[in-house]
Amino acid sequence: MADALVYPIAAPAFGGFTPVAPGVWWVRLELPGPLAHINVWALEDGDGWTLVDTGVGSAATIAAWEQLLHEPPFTQPLKRVIVTHMHPDHVGMAGWFTRRFGVPLWMTRLEYLQCRVAASDTGREPPEDALRFYRAAGWDEAALGGYRGRFGKFGRNIQPMPDSFRRIVDGECIRIGEDDWQVIVGTGHSPEHACLYCAKRQLMISGDQVLPRISSNVSVQPMEPLANPMADWLASLAKLRAAIADDVLVLPSHNECFRGLHARLEQLEVGQHEALDKLRGALAQPQRVVDVFGSLFRRPISPDNASLMGMATGEAVACLNYLVARGGAVRERRDGLDWFSRRP
Ligand SMILES: [Zn+2]
Repeated sequence: MADALVYPIAAPAFGGFTPVAPGVWWVRLELPGPLAHINVWALEDGDGWTLVDTGVGSAATIAAWEQLLHEPPFTQPLKRVIVTHMHPDHVGMAGWFTRRFGVPLWMTRLEYLQCRVAASDTGREPPEDALRFYRAAGWDEAALGGYRGRFGKFGRNIQPMPDSFRRIVDGECIRIGEDDWQVIVGTGHSPEHACLYCAKRQLMISGDQVLPRISSNVSVQPMEPLANPMADWLASLAKLRAAIADDVLVLPSHNECFRGLHARLEQLEVGQHEALDKLRGALAQPQRVVDVFGSLFRRPISPDNASLMGMATGEAVACLNYLVARGGAVRERRDGLDWFSRRP
């Protein structure tokens, strides 16, 4: 099925850019960590340009943008910054741009608010609710120590956020240059993720809502331990399929631009249901969250890797909460530990 996807354009180098359509540029910025890069987009907008997503808020990204801003089309006036969602690699530089150029940030309300909340953790002690969440998942004291050490990292990876924003909403059409871009909100990866779709130009900026070679992280966070983002995620796959034509060129935040949107949406849906079936099979005996990593993830999850542990736990809880909500599994809390078992 992977053959159903076509990648027609070679990716630019880190800190470089390349046109993907008239007046649409693909900028690639370096990221620390295994993802290594993020793609952001510059759109011709009358006598200036609009930026969609910004890069992580680091000195290295600032240096990359300082270089880029010397080259056309980036020497034209920046009109606004649109951000697909709250994660630091997308929103990280938003405040830097809005302050430097005196332009507004356009974002959905939940993404803006959730970002402000997450950033406010920086400088605080890890909350007891979060420690309880990870203990219930089966983490030992060493793993909890890793979490304590990383707590507050979110705010350190973003430039201070603008204190106001312009809300964008699902279904709204944003006029950019000569084109209308429709906002299509997806959920599951983040609370109110904006994709941008230009039917006339057959282009879709997908953010992290659809990625061609990796699956988006769908996680439960300690702030809402009983959330069911997997249900939101699966519903969003169906929504995108209905709302967006198959012949678009998809501009994703990671990997490369591709054609084959509907095939990719189907791959993601089928793959997720297979994973959920396998997980349910593993619940013949009661299991803790950390016990099901082996049935969900190909690579081993080391308790020493705090970041990987956090992601694996969030994803596993998302799958388990989905099964519980659907009636396929039950959760029982005993002595602060959650045990999940298959429901006959
Ligand atoms: Zn993301």
